[in-house]
Amino acid sequence: MFTQDFKEQPYWWDRSAPPTEQDTELPKKVDVLIIGAGYTGLHAAIQTARGSRNTLVIDAEQAGWGCSTRNGGQVSTSIKPSFSELEKKYGKDMALAIHTEGKNSLQFTGDFIREEGLDCSYDVVGRFHAAHNVAQYEKLARAVEQQVSGLENHAYMIPRTDQRSELGTDVYFGGAIFPKHASVDPAAYHKGLLNTALSAGAVIISYCAAENINRDKNGFSVKTSKGIVLADKVIIATNGYTGSLTPQLQRRVIPIGSYVIATEPVDKELMDQLMPKNRIVSDTRKVVYYYRPSPDRSRIIFGGRVSLRESNPRISAPKLHQSLRQIFPQLEHTKISHSWMGFVAFTFDSLMHVGAEDGLHYAMGYCGSGVGMAGYLGMRMGQQVLGLEQGQTPFNDIKFQTRPLYTGKPWFLAPSLMYYRFIDSLNI
Ligand SMILES: Cc1cc2nc3c(=O)[nH]c(=O)nc-3n(C[C@H](O)[C@H](O)[C@H](O)COP(=O)(O)OP(=O)(O)OC[C@H]3O[C@@H](n4cnc5c(N)ncnc54)[C@H](O)[C@@H]3O)c2cc1C
Repeated sequence: MFTQDFKEQPYWWDRSAPPTEQDTELPKKVDVLIIGAGYTGLHAAIQTARGSRNTLVIDAEQAGWGCSTRNGGQVSTSIKPSFSELEKKYGKDMALAIHTEGKNSLQFTGDFIREEGLDCSYDVVGRFHAAHNVAQYEKLARAVEQQVSGLENHAYMIPRTDQRSELGTDVYFGGAIFPKHASVDPAAYHKGLLNTALSAGAVIISYCAAENINRDKNGFSVKTSKGIVLADKVIIATNGYTGSLTPQLQRRVIPIGSYVIATEPVDKELMDQLMPKNRIVSDTRKVVYYYRPSPDRSRIIFGGRVSLRESNPRISAPKLHQSLRQIFPQLEHTKISHSWMGFVAFTFDSLMHVGAEDGLHYAMGYCGSGVGMAGYLGMRMGQQVLGLEQGQTPFNDIKFQTRPLYTGKPWFLAPSLMYYRFIDSLNI
């Protein structure tokens, strides 16, 4: 099943390898210290450095080692709860404000990449969101028909009879097209952000783990694996890798493994049959699959949550391969060239959160949809640190919940995954 040159690392790293260790000296004092060099941290850094704040970004591994160079490269509006769910909880205005932020994050990402001229294969290809049964098709159709005024997304339905014009399979029951969703090469996007942050004057240091944060009346003293840094402001941008450095945040996010494989190159005619419109694809299962062609349309990048417990990419690959072949039997003999995983951060209310706790700023909890939102909220958080009014987001106003006895080790994941698989199998 594996090609001879199979790699246990993201396909994206073939084009954009994470930067190797440089010998940049750790500054002794900065205005802003950002912990985590993914989309959140780098977008925050671009704001603060351009706002003339002396900015340092550190990462425990290579800059970009986390989700930001491992994801599926699907860019959406990112908000998981429906408008009506949010309206029940927070009222109509807040529900509108949250969903509008979703649209803003998508718009911002495309605009930023275009304006900065980042070379990262960003393309507004549209999403095919496939229904895995008839009931889900009807539910999707109702949602598309009853769009909330002000939140229209130009979505439309594709019935099962026309499905092959979107996707070369009969396993689904039709689906919805979201024409504004986009695809990107995630690691090339990250590389572009890294260069933009450096040009703005930020210092970025890899293999520099923050180990301890102390606050006193003058600001913060942060102990890192490369020495101590004093900082006026600290931003936590660690998302699914949030650890005991910030226990108050660790107990609010639930790290969940997401797994991806890339196939070996397939024939052009076959790719044209399987993914004729180059869409990004997801489905209505609770344990979702997400997939797309590579930017050059030579391979399929196929992701999902396949394991009850976290496992290594050699073990997850055959499971993903099996699911891929169930959707596309045409790929029976196609091998896997890459397999990898990363940790996303879910939250107890399925929303992302931004705020300041004990004087530390943070943005995290993108629930597996952070390609657009992480950068957008990183940017907003950078503006908040600069004291700018426009930095405020509705996510600042929502309580970041935890649960009693939860300290950051999600013991409840395996049973809930089994439960969700059971629900998926019921066809409701
Ligand atoms: C397999 C996979 C597929 C995905 N697919 C999609 C997709 O298609 N679409 C989508 O919208 N989203 C997707 N996501 C989610 C998306 O990638 C993330 O939401 C987003 O990249 C989060 O960015 P971030 O900068 O907040 O965190 P990350 O990019 O994860 O960066 C956090 C960084 O913090 C560092 N760190 C942690 N602790 C410390 C410390 N103490 N000191 C220093 N550094 C520290 C880590 O080393 C890490 O590099 C996917 C995620 C995964 C794993």
